[in-house]
Formats: sequence, structure tokens, C-alpha cells
Amino acid sequence: MSESHHAVFGHPVAHSLSPRIHARFSRQTGIALRFEAIDATPDTFATALEAFAAGGGDGASVTLPLKEAALALCADVSDRARRAGAVNTLVRNGEHWHGDNTDGIGLVRDLTGRHGLDLRQRRTLLLGAGGAAHGVAPALIDAGIGDLFIVNRTSDRADALVDKLGLPRRVHSRYFEDLPALGEFDLIINATSAARSSGLPTLPTSLVGARTACVDLSYGEVAIPFLAWARAAHAHHAIDGIGMLVEQAAEAFKLWHGVRPYTDEAYAALRERNALLVTAD
Ligand code: NDP
Repeated sequence: MSESHHAVFGHPVAHSLSPRIHARFSRQTGIALRFEAIDATPDTFATALEAFAAGGGDGASVTLPLKEAALALCADVSDRARRAGAVNTLVRNGEHWHGDNTDGIGLVRDLTGRHGLDLRQRRTLLLGAGGAAHGVAPALIDAGIGDLFIVNRTSDRADALVDKLGLPRRVHSRYFEDLPALGEFDLIINATSAARSSGLPTLPTSLVGARTACVDLSYGEVAIPFLAWARAAHAHHAIDGIGMLVEQAAEAFKLWHGVRPYTDEAYAALRERNALLVTAD
């Protein structure tokens, strides 16, 4: 069988776990593939993607900060990518790229399948309104969560995401200063990259109740501050983004190869390296 050719594009991208995850999926399914990491900035991405296609590229993952740029380079996109306003998976279709977004379904699969959470009617707080928040918000709504409150440092971006979701009675924009008055949530998702820079904004522990699940989309050291806060507030679950990463990759693999790999093995391998960063009881 001929080897298919895939890549992850991002900047920086050297740290990306995608090549390792897809190598595992390849071994498990017997589908031969070459998977490389290609560093590209928003300025160089279009040229790099063209060169990749010219060299026989069949499909690609797209990560920070290129997901919006990827949307613009696609001839057509899936409904969920259009709703997210971002593409994380590119599929070569003849002379063109088809774009999709598997981040949202990846998160929902991790929370419901791996961690056994019933998301229905969960009163939800989403921190952040960047690319990841855009990707996961529509999928959480489709999974049946209750009211969704979105808080972002730049409030205009939270307002824009709320408008885009188009459910004014269920989805609300708030400021960080409003948090102490908002009461308890059943699900709190940190979709900010704050811990990478100046640090997580102050969060009141009154947001957390006895059955609250706290989820950080990040993993590794970046997830530590939020998960430490969640544990200190006695959250029922404190979950990092490793499972979402593996599940979104499995969905991408399925789009490329028509087969969804089992994810437990890849998850266990990555979890071993991040053993302290998840509790689920
Ligand atoms: P973006 O750059 O698109 O958005 C960053 C978000 O963080 C914005 O809402 C931004 O607010 C907020 N932010 C940044 N710094 C601060 C700060 N100091 N205080 C408060 N808010 C801040 O990034 P993404 O949305 O793509 O990624 C967010 C996180 O999610 C990353 O850590 C990424 O690794 C992770 N992720 C994980 C995935 C997985 O598979 N597990 C998939 C995708 C992302 P503002 O609008 O005000 O700038």
C-alpha cells in the first residue's frame, strides 16, 4: 500500500504531539503514512501549504496561530468549521483543500466517552473567546449543555462569539469582574492561553460546586494553574486537554483515512508523561 503524506502546520510547532499520535494510529490501523511538523507563520502559511500540496500532501492538521488563516485557504469547509470560524483539519480534494474542525467533537468525545460526563443541561462557564473557544462552543451547545456564559479579557471578542452562536436566551457574555456574582457552574472550561503569559486571572472559588467539572484545554505545565485552582476549590473533576488532543486527532485521522482509530493507547502513552494533571472520580 502506498504511504500517504500528512503534516501539522503551526508556529511554533516543534513541540507538537501530533506526529507521535498519528504514528501510533498508523501502527494500530496498519495505514502507512508519513507525518511531519512544518513551521509556518500566518505570512508564510499559504506558500508552505502550496509547496506541501505540490509535494503530494494528502492532509494536514493546523494549530496555533493558523486556524483562521486555514479557513481562508479552503475551497469549501464543513458546517462545524464554518460555525467555529476556524479550520484545524485540511483534506486534499483534487486540486483543492477541504477544511474541517475536529476540536469541538474532540472535547465532547473526551468528556462524555472517556470521563463519563453527561453534559446535558450543565450550566457552563467558558473562559476565553479565541480560536479554541470558537471551536468548542458550538459542539458543547450541540451536546446539550444548559446556559453558557462566556468571559474574555477582551470583552468585544466574547460579545462577537455570543452573537455568532445566535442563541441569545441561552448564551451570555460577561466580564471577569462579574464572576463573583454568577454563582455555581456545572462545567467550567478554561480556553484561555493566559497561563502562557501573564498568568490566569483571579477566579473566585464560588464558581465551583460539589459536582463541578473543571476542564483546561491546555496540557502540561500550562494547565497546572487552572487545575490547581480547581482542586483547591474541590471540583469533582479536574481534566486537562490531553484527551481532547487525542480525540480531535482521531477524528482527523478518520477524515483522511475513513477509519477511526482506538484512542486509549495513545491517550495512555501521553497520560504517562502528564500523570499529575488529571483526576476524575
Ligand atoms: P488564541 O490565541 O486564539 O486565544 C487565546 C485566548 O486566551 C483569548 O481568549 C485571549 O484573550 C486569552 N488570553 C490570553 N492571555 C490572557 C491573559 N493574560 N489573561 C486573560 N486571558 C488571556 O488561542 P487558542 O484559543 O487557540 O488556544 C487557547 C488554549 O487552548 C491554548 O493553551 C491551546 O494550547 C489550547 N488548545 C488545546 C487543544 C487541545 O486539543 N487540547 C486544541 C486547541 C487549543 P484575548 O481575546 O483578550 O486576547
